[in-house]
Amino acid sequence: MISDILVHAAKCHGDQEIVSRLPESGTIHRETYAEAHERTKQLANALTKKLKIKEGDRVATIAWNSHRHFELYYAISGVGAVVHTVNPRLDPKQIIWMLDHAQAKAVFFDKSFAPIVNAIAKACKSVKNWVLMTDKTHSDAVDVKHKTYEELIADQSTDFDWPVFDEYAAAGLCYTSGTTGDPKGVLYSHRSNVLHAMATSASDVVGVGARGVMMPVVPMFHVNAWGVPYAAPMNGTKLIMPGAQLDGASLHELIESEDVSYVAGVPTVWLGLLNYLEQEGKRIDSVQRVLIGGSALPESLLRAYEDKYGVVMQQGWGMTEMSPLGTVNVLLPKQEKLDREEQIKIKLKQGRLVFGVGMRVVDDEGKELPWDGKSSGHVQVRGPWIASAYYRGAGAESFTDDGWFQTGDVAHLDGNGFMTITDRSKDVIKTGGEWISSIDLENAAMGHPDVAMAAAVGMPHPKWQERPLLVVQVKDGAEQNAESILDYLRGEVPKWWVPDAVEFIDEMPIGATGKILKTKLREIYKDYEFPSVEA
Ligand code: AMP
Repeated sequence: MISDILVHAAKCHGDQEIVSRLPESGTIHRETYAEAHERTKQLANALTKKLKIKEGDRVATIAWNSHRHFELYYAISGVGAVVHTVNPRLDPKQIIWMLDHAQAKAVFFDKSFAPIVNAIAKACKSVKNWVLMTDKTHSDAVDVKHKTYEELIADQSTDFDWPVFDEYAAAGLCYTSGTTGDPKGVLYSHRSNVLHAMATSASDVVGVGARGVMMPVVPMFHVNAWGVPYAAPMNGTKLIMPGAQLDGASLHELIESEDVSYVAGVPTVWLGLLNYLEQEGKRIDSVQRVLIGGSALPESLLRAYEDKYGVVMQQGWGMTEMSPLGTVNVLLPKQEKLDREEQIKIKLKQGRLVFGVGMRVVDDEGKELPWDGKSSGHVQVRGPWIASAYYRGAGAESFTDDGWFQTGDVAHLDGNGFMTITDRSKDVIKTGGEWISSIDLENAAMGHPDVAMAAAVGMPHPKWQERPLLVVQVKDGAEQNAESILDYLRGEVPKWWVPDAVEFIDEMPIGATGKILKTKLREIYKDYEFPSVEA
């Protein structure tokens, strides 16, 4: 049971701390694992008695990383319900859709997301309770009837017997919204989350123990913050929750004041911190390792952190469907003897396969390819913390008849189990750790009266890793007006989806099946640089 992790932490690491920067105020809050357990039991009583949450019910969170979000993870799963973490960066329409699809009974949200709740609450018919994750003094931010977290638990008993049920019971739910169509839900079970936490605890994976201080900057709404909220208490690791302030200065302050030794997050975050360090001449001497994933680790970032700041950069690869960890890049002893440039080549690979993750690489016909470090193919995975279906039967085409999940990543493996991603077969753009569906963006662009055909492709970007470039063929006789198309899109898609540039093409390359040849477009624009890129 997931509750066993917190019970263990409270008993054996009771004085170890969870330190949070409160999302509603920016101030620092401290509690121990023992105190977190007491509050989690109060919350479990409130969930079951006041909010009438039953086994199997979905309870959603729209929240930053904080001690309260941590308590919710354990209380919701602990009572047998399912913690449904909602990504607040999604379009409000999508959030409404997800809460309805999951039939969420209650939603816990941070004050900074009150505007989202104010806008969507009426449309969320299944939601019986909205709970603001702070105390009453912040209630004026919310227009809808709500409770506050602290009032909810204040009068509740700290006695609660965690129930024991089937380890395959659902504990968590996270939607992934990469490709076109509705988002797809991935359910995690008690078994999958506990096994994933145990696997990631190994020294060559995440490997933090009671001496470590871990700061997950990756949000708890992105695949359970990569499992850190489970692995840290399991190992008695001090946990630092950065709340809503993820800029370089705020992260640096927490790293210094809490002696953070291990951090996890997407490249954009580490780039922000690096810029701050360079500008201010500051250091992060307590940090030993950075777990970086969600997008490829840029070479410049690797060199800057390792050469100037003495930090080990560990690239990881995984997915929402994989809980998420699949590979982590830790050099083997024989590779540690190689010269620096050879080591860098290895460190830029996505990493070494974690035990428990079954992987095969297949060609277009489904034939398995050798692990020879050069035969690239479609990556398929299966295992105890890898989804075997999407929630409520969606996306069945992503699973093979013999039970493998098709990742949409194209890669090769070498004889030491190091995976290198070489391409992506899914039609999506990943920017700053978040997905943009190129197909949805293209469909939106097609609504502009001058557009005959539109294709969105991800182009390298120094800050966001990828940003969309829209390639457009206009209708005969129509004007090639980029600003007019961008203006139109600003009213149709979320702000961060709007392409960074529009390029016009006389004739869109079309393949034999009538589809736009994205591969050809990527070839045409292979040296493309966005006209205005921030320094
Ligand atoms: P998500 O489900 O949002 O976590 O996204 C998973 C996808 O992100 C993977 O299938 C990859 O396409 C991409 N991804 C994750 N980690 C890496 C990495 N280290 N390098 C390149 N792509 C990555």
